[in-house]
Amino acid sequence: MGNVKASRSSSRSASSASRDRLSATLALDQPVSVVPSVSPARAASLRKLGITTVRDLVEHYPRRYVDLSAQVAIAEASIGQLCTIRGRVHRITLKRPKPRLDIVEISLVDDTGLLMITCFRQRWLMESIHEGDLLAVAGKVEFNYGYKRMTNPTIEPVGEQRDTGAVLPVHPATEKLSAKMVRRLVANGLDIVRGLLDPLPVALREKYRLMSRGSALSCIQFPQSMNEVAQARRRLAYEELLLLELFLMTESKKRSEGHHPVAHVVDGAHTAALMAALPFTLTTEQEKARTEMLAALAKPSAANHMILGDVGTGKTVVAAFALAAAADSGSQGMLMAPTEVLALQHGKSLGGMLAQAGVSVAVLTGSTSTQERTQILGDFASGALDVLIGTHALLEDDVVGAAVSVVVIDEQQRFGVDQRARLLVKGDAPDAVYLTATPIPRTLALALFGNLTLSYITQRPHDLAHRTTKVLPRHNEGEAYEEARAALERGEQVYVVCPLVGTSTQQRDERSQATDEPDEGYHPLVAIEGDQDFVGDNAAAAEQEAQRLQEGIFHDWNVAVLHGQMPSADKQEIMERFRTGEINVLVATTVIEVGVDVPNATVMIIEDADRFGLSQLHQLRGRVGRGELSALVYLISASRQEAALARLQALETVDDGFELASYDLSLRREGDILGNRQSGASSLKLVNIVRDGAMVEAAHGDAVALLEQDPTLSLPEHQALAREMRLVFSKDSAVSGG
Ligand code: ADP
Ligand code: MG
Repeated sequence: MGNVKASRSSSRSASSASRDRLSATLALDQPVSVVPSVSPARAASLRKLGITTVRDLVEHYPRRYVDLSAQVAIAEASIGQLCTIRGRVHRITLKRPKPRLDIVEISLVDDTGLLMITCFRQRWLMESIHEGDLLAVAGKVEFNYGYKRMTNPTIEPVGEQRDTGAVLPVHPATEKLSAKMVRRLVANGLDIVRGLLDPLPVALREKYRLMSRGSALSCIQFPQSMNEVAQARRRLAYEELLLLELFLMTESKKRSEGHHPVAHVVDGAHTAALMAALPFTLTTEQEKARTEMLAALAKPSAANHMILGDVGTGKTVVAAFALAAAADSGSQGMLMAPTEVLALQHGKSLGGMLAQAGVSVAVLTGSTSTQERTQILGDFASGALDVLIGTHALLEDDVVGAAVSVVVIDEQQRFGVDQRARLLVKGDAPDAVYLTATPIPRTLALALFGNLTLSYITQRPHDLAHRTTKVLPRHNEGEAYEEARAALERGEQVYVVCPLVGTSTQQRDERSQATDEPDEGYHPLVAIEGDQDFVGDNAAAAEQEAQRLQEGIFHDWNVAVLHGQMPSADKQEIMERFRTGEINVLVATTVIEVGVDVPNATVMIIEDADRFGLSQLHQLRGRVGRGELSALVYLISASRQEAALARLQALETVDDGFELASYDLSLRREGDILGNRQSGASSLKLVNIVRDGAMVEAAHGDAVALLEQDPTLSLPEHQALAREMRLVFSKDSAVSGG
């Protein structure tokens, strides 16, 4: 049919051919009901699959394929081979060896032999498959009980006719709309848009040898070979990425539009004085990060600069230069941290250095007294105050600066998108600096933030080779406490970390015990989000543990507790007394996870370490080994499972947070890594950000180049692209426009 239409249009005049192409393109955004065979009832079923427009339908990609070209006869199928077999159902039976276990057994015959198929928990097959049906089954051939057998293969009813080519697409379907019907509707949808215009500029298609969009849609939906699928996917994935990058970049440019972002003075007196005030010299990477960040700040557009580095790599001091640059530019800076402990610590260390550089600093948290708060807000509003450091308290409506031009967000992944946005409106399109210890690969950061400049810091200023991590089963924990006592005798200090007893942790625990398998759903990076230290039982557990230790093994020493539920004044006091050495042993919850800095603390014992994600354990242990003294970290495991111990043992040999995260990183949940999932990235249907890293880079680079050449994408060769971008990212207008 496609051929007939193609030859017909080529015989017409050029202008009517292009009119056809235009109407095919416009059809994309019409309601799906214009597609033949889409009755109102089917339209309703399609809506359940998220399909409302023709575009949605033709982009409803197969979930998998049954490759009929890899088809073998039953007699030829070798054991262990992955293959497709086509045959006729001889018999189908339901077995119930246990009350809640359904097994459907199918015997399939072809001209050469008999294949047994076993399907667990797929009772519904009894209704959809009947004796005499022709099936294609794809899976691994096994041999047992004297038969060739497949267990839980992909099963597709196939007609006698070969209407779908050599590869059978299997689409996501619903109860009311079979995969077969979906296939038919998709084919009808493709017919309507046949000949549609390609939004990708020819230059880019040539550069990467990409199929046209029309061919790619046909090939991914109804391929002749798996290679066609790969080529089609490559083309469509690239398009998804290019559009996303263009969208993110255009959006972030809008942040500056109508505003007056400050082009910062980055070599002024305060920055120079800050450099002179540092008690150390910056490492090469810190210096590079500083230069990159300041270059972004110097531009007359609203910058987004992210500094990524493992715990203890010294990101904070780099960010301090952004705050100093604000002061040099006659404007103000803000720094927001996720916890009070951390905000206070920044106030102390950063505040101290900045003060020496002539930059005035105040700290605002939820527990700042009313009187002090009034004073701070007054100074901030009048411009008397250069830099305001704080917690979420900074987001309150009455926190208004005279001229905020820099905002720094520490541990940015701990804040939601909306919180970050609320800080950004404190200024007139201020430059944003994000600090994160979460290992986000560059490609992922680009894909999710688009217009972002990045600096990575991989090396710590101190050599941490003298920090040793050891996993101990519970019954050997005495060894850890003996070492702790030895350290105390030397005048050093000790952390004991109590696990969370929060619901999420409990559930996870129960789940993994129930299945006895590694828990795939559990994501290490999720564990470090949110204010987990505000969990009731947790505080009680910590207090109990402190008492037990004080009365027992540490009776000669001062033991104190720190947890999230304590009033902030108490927290500060405890931290201060630990810092000065008056407290020898600090029993803490994850409150100490971020930022707390006491170089004399050399031993950390983490109880029930199994309850933490690797990344979180890594963050925690970053609290010791910060000074000249060598440090010991003990991970006490209560689990008897080999796998649990093995997981923890990764920490014995690997000291790189980025690498550790990759142990646990579940590729499907990229969005979680950044806190809230960014809306833009949900447009990606075919892209796997980790696997397609090179493609992300390419699309990012191409988007930058395109916008440099044509900032509004209004050249004739870019108009289709601009239109496509608007349509993809404003679904509502796309629907109402059709
Ligand atoms: P993070 O990247 O985890 O936020 P911090 O900024 O808290 O790390 O820095 C960790 C520690 O290293 C702090 O005590 C800081 O003062 C110190 N530090 C930072 N840069 C250097 C440096 N170049 N030389 C020595 N110590 C440094
Ligand atoms: Mg930090």
